[in-house]
Order: sequence, then C-alpha cells, then structure tokens
Amino acid sequence: MRILVSNDDGIYSPGIAALASVASEFGDVRVVAPDVERSSASHAITATCPLSYRPTRLNNSNLTAYRVNGTPADCVALGTHHWDSVDLVLSGLNLGFNLGNAIWHSGTLAAAKQAVLLGLRGVALSVPAGIDQDFEPEKPWIRQVLEIIMAESSLPLINVNLPRDPRGVLWTNVSVRQYDGRIVSTKDPQGRDVFWFTVKPLEPAEEGTDRWAVEQDWISLTPLRLDLTDEVQLRSVAQRRPLDRALAAATSPATSSQQAASAVRAEEAAAPTNL
Ligand code: MN
Repeated sequence: MRILVSNDDGIYSPGIAALASVASEFGDVRVVAPDVERSSASHAITATCPLSYRPTRLNNSNLTAYRVNGTPADCVALGTHHWDSVDLVLSGLNLGFNLGNAIWHSGTLAAAKQAVLLGLRGVALSVPAGIDQDFEPEKPWIRQVLEIIMAESSLPLINVNLPRDPRGVLWTNVSVRQYDGRIVSTKDPQGRDVFWFTVKPLEPAEEGTDRWAVEQDWISLTPLRLDLTDEVQLRSVAQRRPLDRALAAATSPATSSQQAASAVRAEEAAAPTNL
C-alpha cells in the first residue's frame, strides 16, 4: 500500500513526522508537504507561479520526503503526480483541532479533500495544539484509527480529531452551529492598527457531533463528502419554481455534445482579456 502524507503546518512540524512514522507500519510512505506553515489556507491552489518539489529530510526519519513552495492541495497534486498508484492520503497530525466549521478554513482537511478530487481516499488528523510533541501516548490511538480507516475502505473522506487521553473512538457528524467570526483590532509596535480574525463557537455543541465528542474525550471520526448540493432545498425549490425544466427536458440531451463541452472548458481556461 502506498500512503502519501501531507499537512498544512509545514514539513518540519513534529506532527507530520509522527503520522508518517505510524503510517509506515501500514505501507510505503512518502511525505510531501508545504515548506512553510500554511494553516487556514483551506483549499487554495497556486495558479500564478511555478511550484518546486525538493527532496528534504524529516527529523528522526529515513522516510522519503519532499518540500513544496505551495499549499496543502498543491502538495497532494504534486505528490500523486510524482508517485504512481497512491492508495491513501493522510494529512496531519495538525497541531490544533479541526472541529465544526473549521472544516471550511482547514488546510489539513484540504489536503485530504484534494485526494478525493483526484479519485483517492483522504483522511485529515488533528490533535490539540499544546500536546507534548513526542506523540508517544497518541501513537497507539493513531494506529487504531488507521486500522479502522483501512477496514472501512468505502469511506472516501474522513476528518479525525484526537483529544488528549481519549476514552475511545466514535463516528460523528459536523457541528455546524454559528461561530463568532468577528474581527478584533489591536496595535502593532508602531501604533498602527492591525486585526485578528477570531473563530469561536457561540453555542454548546450538539450531541453526536465532532465537537461534542472531543469535549467528552472521544476520538471523533467524521465521514465527509464533497458534494455540497442541498438536496432537500433543491427538491423543494425545483418543485415550487421549476424555471425552464420543461424546455430543457424537450431540447437538451442527457449528455452534452463534444463541441459544447469543449467550448465551456475553453472559457474556463481562458486568460482575462480586459486587464
Ligand atoms: Mn495547521
């Protein structure tokens, strides 16, 4: 089994070395990660400058590793380009939980999502930011989580959060209650205004969610999907306001012509001409 390991904390984070070490018990491991921290980079890709792919050494490890001057998603794209037949992409261990609405900002999860976009399986793993960074107490739990993930091969995308001293492992859903995404202002040493974007949940977590599980010392495994379509709302609005459905049914075949598909792809790829 080929396992590609990435992260958003950067290739020199102790978290990625710990994850790669446990992963190497399950198969061949290659590490491809950003050369600097890219936390909260979400699913950005680098579209306006070239990427480099440089061999590097991980601390205390003989594993093959490469550093990339790009985002977590770039790293997974490059890593799978240079290494055929990857079976699984692991991202982490992120130093800091990725619970609830953090999935929208997380670069850790984006690396796992990029795997799924490429037709592979992706798993994001996060631990508390302040945890002792030899990770020896966590390793048996990480091993157990990877065993579950290997056995449940139909799940394409899983977000894992491991609390300190866990009691066990639970399947969860995402806690989607509103968070405080307000801006907090302060001053830099020169007295100029600077701003921090704060992210804090406003309400208690719902039972069965990732945040609730971690609050109660359970390891949280959340199966995710990339299709964001709101099926309930879609059915409802399409019935209430069918728009041009009848005309489309009468005139548009189920599969577009080659010419129509190529025209849209050319528009997607076109550089702007009105700069
Ligand atoms: Mn991070």
